[in-house]
Amino acid sequence: MVRIRSVRKRFGSLEVLKGIDLDVPAGEVVCVVGPSGSGKSTLLRCVNRLESIDSGRIWVNGELMGYAERDGRLHALRPHELSRQRRGIGMVFQRFHLFPHRTAIENVMEGPVTVLGTSAAQARRQAQELLDRVGLADRGHHYPAQLSGGQQQRVAIARSLAMRPSLMLFDEPTSALDPELVQEVLAVMRDLAATGMTMMVVTHEMNFAREVGDQLVFMDDGVIVERGDPREVLAAPRHERLRAFLGQVQ
Ligand code: ATP
Ligand code: MG
Repeated sequence: MVRIRSVRKRFGSLEVLKGIDLDVPAGEVVCVVGPSGSGKSTLLRCVNRLESIDSGRIWVNGELMGYAERDGRLHALRPHELSRQRRGIGMVFQRFHLFPHRTAIENVMEGPVTVLGTSAAQARRQAQELLDRVGLADRGHHYPAQLSGGQQQRVAIARSLAMRPSLMLFDEPTSALDPELVQEVLAVMRDLAATGMTMMVVTHEMNFAREVGDQLVFMDDGVIVERGDPREVLAAPRHERLRAFLGQVQ
Protein backbone atom coordinates (compact mmCIF):
# COMPACT_ATOMS: atom_id res chain seq x y z
CA MET A 1 0.00 0.00 0.00
CA VAL A 2 2.76 2.46 0.97
CA ARG A 3 6.23 1.84 -0.32
CA ILE A 4 9.01 4.26 0.58
CA ARG A 5 12.44 3.79 -0.96
CA SER A 6 15.69 5.68 -0.28
CA VAL A 7 13.88 8.91 0.50
CA ARG A 8 16.03 11.91 1.25
CA LYS A 9 14.86 15.38 2.15
CA ARG A 10 16.78 18.47 3.12
CA PHE A 11 15.81 21.94 4.25
CA GLY A 12 18.72 24.14 3.18
CA SER A 13 21.85 22.62 4.63
CA LEU A 14 19.93 20.44 7.09
CA GLU A 15 19.31 16.89 5.91
CA VAL A 16 16.14 15.82 7.68
CA LEU A 17 15.51 12.44 6.02
CA LYS A 18 18.67 10.52 5.25
CA GLY A 19 17.50 7.57 3.20
CA ILE A 20 14.22 6.16 4.48
CA ASP A 21 12.93 2.73 3.42
CA LEU A 22 9.56 1.66 4.75
CA ASP A 23 6.64 -0.53 3.70
CA VAL A 24 3.13 -0.28 5.05
CA PRO A 25 1.06 -3.22 3.79
CA ALA A 26 -2.65 -2.64 3.15
CA GLY A 27 -4.70 -2.79 6.32
CA GLU A 28 -1.73 -2.38 8.63
CA VAL A 29 -0.96 0.28 11.21
CA VAL A 30 2.59 1.60 11.43
CA CYS A 31 3.42 3.70 14.48
CA VAL A 32 6.33 6.10 14.10
CA VAL A 33 8.08 7.29 17.23
CA GLY A 34 11.21 9.28 17.90
CA PRO A 35 12.61 12.41 19.49
CA SER A 36 11.64 15.93 18.48
CA GLY A 37 13.28 16.94 15.23
CA SER A 38 13.99 13.36 14.11
CA GLY A 39 11.95 13.85 10.91
CA LYS A 40 8.65 12.11 11.73
CA SER A 41 6.34 14.89 10.52
CA THR A 42 8.49 15.49 7.47
CA LEU A 43 8.21 11.82 6.55
CA LEU A 44 4.39 11.93 6.75
CA ARG A 45 4.31 15.19 4.80
CA CYS A 46 6.46 13.62 2.09
CA VAL A 47 4.06 10.67 1.81
CA ASN A 48 1.13 12.91 0.91
CA ARG A 49 3.36 15.31 -0.95
CA LEU A 50 2.84 18.31 1.29
CA GLU A 51 6.64 18.31 0.92
CA SER A 52 8.60 17.32 -2.15
CA ILE A 53 11.49 14.90 -1.77
CA ASP A 54 15.05 15.39 -3.00
CA SER A 55 15.61 11.77 -3.98
CA GLY A 56 14.01 8.38 -3.62
CA ARG A 57 10.51 7.19 -4.46
CA ILE A 58 7.19 6.90 -2.67
CA TRP A 59 4.32 4.77 -3.97
CA VAL A 60 0.82 4.81 -2.51
CA ASN A 61 -1.59 2.19 -3.85
CA GLY A 62 0.92 1.36 -6.56
CA GLU A 63 1.02 4.97 -7.78
CA LEU A 64 4.29 6.85 -7.72
CA MET A 65 3.60 10.02 -5.73
CA GLY A 66 4.25 13.27 -7.53
CA TYR A 67 5.26 11.81 -10.88
CA ALA A 68 3.81 10.15 -13.93
CA GLU A 69 5.82 7.81 -16.10
CA ARG A 70 5.55 8.61 -19.80
CA ASP A 71 7.84 7.34 -22.55
CA GLY A 72 9.98 5.65 -19.92
CA ARG A 73 10.67 8.99 -18.23
CA LEU A 74 9.34 10.58 -15.06
CA HIS A 75 7.40 13.81 -15.36
CA ALA A 76 6.34 15.91 -12.39
CA LEU A 77 2.57 15.80 -11.99
CA ARG A 78 0.56 18.88 -12.77
CA PRO A 79 -1.24 20.45 -9.80
CA HIS A 80 -4.67 18.97 -10.60
CA GLU A 81 -3.16 15.50 -11.06
CA LEU A 82 -1.34 15.86 -7.78
CA SER A 83 -4.52 16.87 -5.96
CA ARG A 84 -6.27 13.81 -7.36
CA GLN A 85 -3.46 11.64 -5.98
CA ARG A 86 -3.55 13.33 -2.62
CA ARG A 87 -7.32 13.02 -2.33
CA GLY A 88 -6.97 9.36 -1.39
CA ILE A 89 -4.79 10.16 1.59
CA GLY A 90 -6.34 11.58 4.75
CA MET A 91 -4.27 13.53 7.25
CA VAL A 92 -5.02 14.44 10.84
CA PHE A 93 -2.74 16.90 12.60
CA GLN A 94 -1.98 17.74 16.20
CA ARG A 95 -4.14 20.85 15.83
CA PHE A 96 -7.57 20.23 14.45
CA HIS A 97 -7.78 22.90 11.71
CA LEU A 98 -11.59 22.87 11.59
CA PHE A 99 -13.37 25.74 9.88
CA PRO A 100 -14.41 27.84 12.89
CA HIS A 101 -17.51 29.34 11.29
CA ARG A 102 -18.94 26.02 10.17
CA THR A 103 -20.73 23.52 12.36
CA ALA A 104 -19.33 20.03 12.94
CA ILE A 105 -21.52 18.50 10.24
CA GLU A 106 -20.73 21.31 7.78
CA ASN A 107 -17.02 20.71 8.39
CA VAL A 108 -17.47 17.05 7.50
CA MET A 109 -19.61 17.83 4.41
CA GLU A 110 -17.28 20.45 2.98
CA GLY A 111 -14.80 18.20 1.15
CA PRO A 112 -17.32 15.86 -0.51
CA VAL A 113 -19.44 18.81 -1.70
CA THR A 114 -16.67 21.08 -2.96
CA VAL A 115 -14.11 18.53 -4.13
CA LEU A 116 -16.03 15.38 -4.99
CA GLY A 117 -19.19 17.10 -6.23
CA THR A 118 -21.43 15.09 -3.89
CA SER A 119 -24.93 16.57 -3.50
CA ALA A 120 -25.50 18.46 -0.25
CA ALA A 121 -28.24 16.04 0.83
CA GLN A 122 -26.06 13.00 0.29
CA ALA A 123 -23.00 14.64 1.86
CA ARG A 124 -25.11 15.49 4.91
CA ARG A 125 -26.29 11.88 5.26
CA GLN A 126 -22.72 10.59 4.98
CA ALA A 127 -21.46 13.22 7.41
CA GLN A 128 -24.11 12.22 9.94
CA GLU A 129 -23.03 8.57 9.64
CA LEU A 130 -19.41 9.55 10.16
CA LEU A 131 -20.27 11.67 13.19
CA ASP A 132 -22.13 8.63 14.57
CA ARG A 133 -19.06 6.55 13.98
CA VAL A 134 -16.80 8.90 15.97
CA GLY A 135 -19.34 9.11 18.79
CA LEU A 136 -20.65 12.59 17.98
CA ALA A 137 -24.11 11.83 16.60
CA ASP A 138 -25.68 14.60 18.68
CA ARG A 139 -23.00 17.27 18.14
CA GLY A 140 -23.46 17.95 14.42
CA HIS A 141 -24.84 21.44 14.94
CA HIS A 142 -22.15 22.59 17.33
CA TYR A 143 -19.45 24.98 16.20
CA PRO A 144 -15.82 23.96 16.89
CA ALA A 145 -15.56 26.47 19.76
CA GLN A 146 -18.49 24.68 21.42
CA LEU A 147 -16.68 21.33 21.35
CA SER A 148 -13.91 19.95 23.56
CA GLY A 149 -10.49 19.35 22.03
CA GLY A 150 -11.17 15.61 21.88
CA GLN A 151 -14.49 16.19 20.15
CA GLN A 152 -12.89 18.60 17.68
CA GLN A 153 -10.24 16.04 16.86
CA ARG A 154 -12.92 13.39 16.29
CA VAL A 155 -14.70 15.79 13.91
CA ALA A 156 -11.35 16.26 12.14
CA ILE A 157 -11.06 12.49 11.75
CA ALA A 158 -14.64 12.27 10.44
CA ARG A 159 -13.86 15.08 8.01
CA SER A 160 -10.85 13.19 6.65
CA LEU A 161 -12.86 9.97 6.35
CA ALA A 162 -15.57 11.81 4.38
CA MET A 163 -13.13 11.92 1.46
CA ARG A 164 -13.02 8.09 1.52
CA PRO A 165 -9.24 7.83 1.81
CA SER A 166 -7.45 4.53 1.38
CA LEU A 167 -4.63 5.69 3.67
CA MET A 168 -4.78 7.78 6.84
CA LEU A 169 -1.83 9.72 8.22
CA PHE A 170 -1.94 10.89 11.83
CA ASP A 171 0.66 13.34 13.14
CA GLU A 172 0.55 13.30 16.96
CA PRO A 173 -3.25 13.50 16.95
CA THR A 174 -3.51 13.47 20.74
CA SER A 175 -0.51 15.59 21.72
CA ALA A 176 -2.45 18.85 22.01
CA LEU A 177 -5.22 17.31 24.14
CA ASP A 178 -5.79 17.36 27.86
CA PRO A 179 -4.92 13.92 29.23
CA GLU A 180 -8.53 13.00 29.97
CA LEU A 181 -9.47 13.54 26.31
CA VAL A 182 -6.73 11.41 24.79
CA GLN A 183 -8.46 8.04 25.13
CA GLU A 184 -11.64 9.01 23.28
CA VAL A 185 -9.56 9.94 20.23
CA LEU A 186 -7.41 6.81 20.48
CA ALA A 187 -10.60 4.74 20.71
CA VAL A 188 -11.81 6.17 17.40
CA MET A 189 -8.42 5.41 15.83
CA ARG A 190 -8.51 1.88 17.24
CA ASP A 191 -11.97 1.33 15.69
CA LEU A 192 -10.70 2.68 12.41
CA ALA A 193 -7.75 0.28 12.48
CA ALA A 194 -10.19 -2.57 13.16
CA THR A 195 -12.07 -1.72 9.96
CA GLY A 196 -8.88 -2.44 8.04
CA MET A 197 -7.78 1.12 7.33
CA THR A 198 -4.11 1.47 6.43
CA MET A 199 -2.59 3.96 8.85
CA MET A 200 0.69 5.72 9.58
CA VAL A 201 0.59 7.17 13.06
CA VAL A 202 3.20 9.43 14.63
CA THR A 203 2.55 9.17 18.34
CA HIS A 204 4.02 9.09 21.81
CA GLU A 205 1.23 6.81 23.00
CA MET A 206 3.19 3.60 23.51
CA ASN A 207 0.17 1.63 24.73
CA PHE A 208 -1.62 2.46 21.49
CA ALA A 209 1.46 1.39 19.52
CA ARG A 210 1.66 -1.86 21.48
CA GLU A 211 -2.03 -2.71 21.19
CA VAL A 212 -2.91 -1.42 17.73
CA GLY A 213 0.35 -1.19 15.79
CA ASP A 214 1.43 -3.92 13.40
CA GLN A 215 4.84 -2.31 13.13
CA LEU A 216 6.78 0.16 15.26
CA VAL A 217 9.37 2.41 13.66
CA PHE A 218 11.84 4.38 15.74
CA MET A 219 13.38 7.36 13.95
CA ASP A 220 16.32 9.37 15.16
CA ASP A 221 18.19 12.08 13.30
CA GLY A 222 16.59 11.34 9.92
CA VAL A 223 17.07 7.58 9.86
CA ILE A 224 15.04 4.57 10.96
CA VAL A 225 17.12 3.18 13.79
CA GLU A 226 14.91 0.27 14.80
CA ARG A 227 11.69 -1.36 13.60
CA GLY A 228 9.62 -4.44 14.21
CA ASP A 229 6.64 -5.86 16.04
CA PRO A 230 5.73 -3.17 18.60
CA ARG A 231 5.39 -5.67 21.44
CA GLU A 232 8.84 -7.09 20.78
CA VAL A 233 10.54 -3.77 20.13
CA LEU A 234 9.09 -2.15 23.24
CA ALA A 235 9.80 -5.16 25.45
CA ALA A 236 13.40 -5.46 24.29
CA PRO A 237 14.72 -2.39 22.48
CA ARG A 238 18.07 -3.16 20.88
CA HIS A 239 19.46 0.35 20.42
CA GLU A 240 20.61 2.55 23.23
CA ARG A 241 18.96 5.61 21.61
CA LEU A 242 15.58 3.86 21.66
CA ARG A 243 16.05 2.80 25.28
CA ALA A 244 16.86 6.41 26.21
CA PHE A 245 13.82 7.66 24.27
CA LEU A 246 11.47 5.16 25.91
CA GLY A 247 12.82 6.13 29.30
CA GLN A 248 11.60 9.67 28.62
CA VAL A 249 8.15 8.97 27.19
CA GLN A 250 6.96 6.02 29.27
P1 ATP B 1 8.48 16.81 16.62
O1 ATP B 1 8.45 15.57 17.47
O2 ATP B 1 8.98 17.99 17.38
O3 ATP B 1 7.20 17.07 15.91
P2 ATP B 1 9.57 15.73 14.13
O4 ATP B 1 10.25 14.42 14.33
O5 ATP B 1 8.19 15.71 13.60
O6 ATP B 1 9.63 16.55 15.50
P3 ATP B 1 10.15 17.37 11.84
O7 ATP B 1 9.05 18.34 12.06
O8 ATP B 1 10.00 16.40 10.74
O9 ATP B 1 10.51 16.60 13.18
O10 ATP B 1 11.46 18.22 11.62
C1 ATP B 1 12.73 17.65 11.37
C2 ATP B 1 13.73 18.76 11.22
O11 ATP B 1 13.43 19.51 10.06
C3 ATP B 1 13.75 19.75 12.37
O12 ATP B 1 15.07 20.11 12.63
C4 ATP B 1 12.96 20.92 11.83
O13 ATP B 1 13.38 22.11 12.42
C5 ATP B 1 13.29 20.89 10.37
N1 ATP B 1 12.20 21.40 9.53
C6 ATP B 1 10.96 20.90 9.44
N2 ATP B 1 10.21 21.58 8.55
C7 ATP B 1 11.01 22.56 8.05
C8 ATP B 1 10.84 23.61 7.10
N3 ATP B 1 9.67 23.77 6.43
N4 ATP B 1 11.89 24.41 6.86
C9 ATP B 1 13.06 24.25 7.49
N5 ATP B 1 13.30 23.29 8.41
C10 ATP B 1 12.30 22.45 8.69
MG1 MG C 1 6.38 16.44 14.25
